[in-house]
Amino acid sequence: MLLKTILNRVQKFKSFIYGNVKWVDTGGVPELDIEILARSNSKPICSICGRKGSGYDRLAERRFEFIPMWGIKVFFRYAPRRVDCYCCGIHVEKMPWSKGKRRLTENYAWFLSSWAKRLSWKETAEAFHTTWDHVFCSVEMAVKWGKENRDLADIKAIGVDEIQWQRGHKYLTLVYQIDSDCRRLLWVGQNRTIKTLLRFFMWFGKQRSEQLEHVCSDMWKPYLKVIKKKAVNALHILDRFHIMAYLSKGIDKVRAEEVRSLKDKGLEPVLTQSRWLLLKKPENLNERQESKLSELLQCNLKTIRSYLLKEEFQQFWQYASPYWAEQFLDKWCTKTMRSKIEPMKKVAKMLRRHKPLLMNWFKAKGQFSSGIVEGFNNKAKLTTRKAYGFRTYYAAEIALFHTLGALPVPETAHRFS
Ligand SMILES: [Zn+2]
Repeated sequence: MLLKTILNRVQKFKSFIYGNVKWVDTGGVPELDIEILARSNSKPICSICGRKGSGYDRLAERRFEFIPMWGIKVFFRYAPRRVDCYCCGIHVEKMPWSKGKRRLTENYAWFLSSWAKRLSWKETAEAFHTTWDHVFCSVEMAVKWGKENRDLADIKAIGVDEIQWQRGHKYLTLVYQIDSDCRRLLWVGQNRTIKTLLRFFMWFGKQRSEQLEHVCSDMWKPYLKVIKKKAVNALHILDRFHIMAYLSKGIDKVRAEEVRSLKDKGLEPVLTQSRWLLLKKPENLNERQESKLSELLQCNLKTIRSYLLKEEFQQFWQYASPYWAEQFLDKWCTKTMRSKIEPMKKVAKMLRRHKPLLMNWFKAKGQFSSGIVEGFNNKAKLTTRKAYGFRTYYAAEIALFHTLGALPVPETAHRFS
């Protein structure tokens, strides 16, 4: 039969041959069953130690799901032998198409996991007429394999970031490698406490931590403390993306307060519709938005003044000379402290407090642009938010590594995907 010819071309297993192929009617859509037979003179291999042993007995036939062909489900059908192993005792033999007690063939698991990068887990399950659990197990296998086989040598720069997860104030700490030639998620941990980041450094190891040259983070105190203690040789940079985000949050607060007080005074709530106008980059506004913005700018509102302070701060990152950048920073902070706008004053105070770290940006010569961490941050949020159906932390962690970990896959996995 044609199918056997194809299989012998693309997927041969040493010591096993393909037997009969037949249609199986399971009540729904017909499926294909491919019989697998051990070569008559072959000895089974012990699944524990990998040594050949003598056959003990044979278990009942099992079905292993393989990659569907022409939209038809394909199963391998095989009755595993048990090995009487000289070292390990009596065990099920090793079957090269499947690991452990899985009902999916390894090929199919790699196939599903590679599709689960392009589609959501639910969509993948639907597309290949399989279950969400099978997709999850496949992705889990891919992540496990990838993490065991990834290369952690020569990591020079990392970025520490957090994202909110689930509802309420629950956080995940994410650590990325942000070297120019390799950018990927390295580690995920629950919460964003001192303990969380200490766990990362414990896993990462002393030697690797000492080799770090650059660490990027936001101004979250527990992170600052741990980085100072553990990444002793690294230049610590506060990343631009997070600092600008603090300023945006400040504006948001000012705006919310101002809307409230305008309403109390019975004034037209001019600001209610304007949030996005103020947070967008000016160059991204369309004409209508632009004219609305210029109207807004004519009112002497706290929100507008905050917005202008933020826009002015962008200049900080443009300086080539750290000296002039520092002058600018001092002036900006003084001006903001005099603005009488509390949320913005809070940001200015924080920037003053972390001035030395802030100035490290210039020592790194802008090497770590805001884009890297920001890009990862967006993708991570998207991944955890997507309706993957995971309610557990574990599933979210698997999903994050799968999409952001740039994990290696074995040579054989490329063949089918
Ligand atoms: Zn053994």
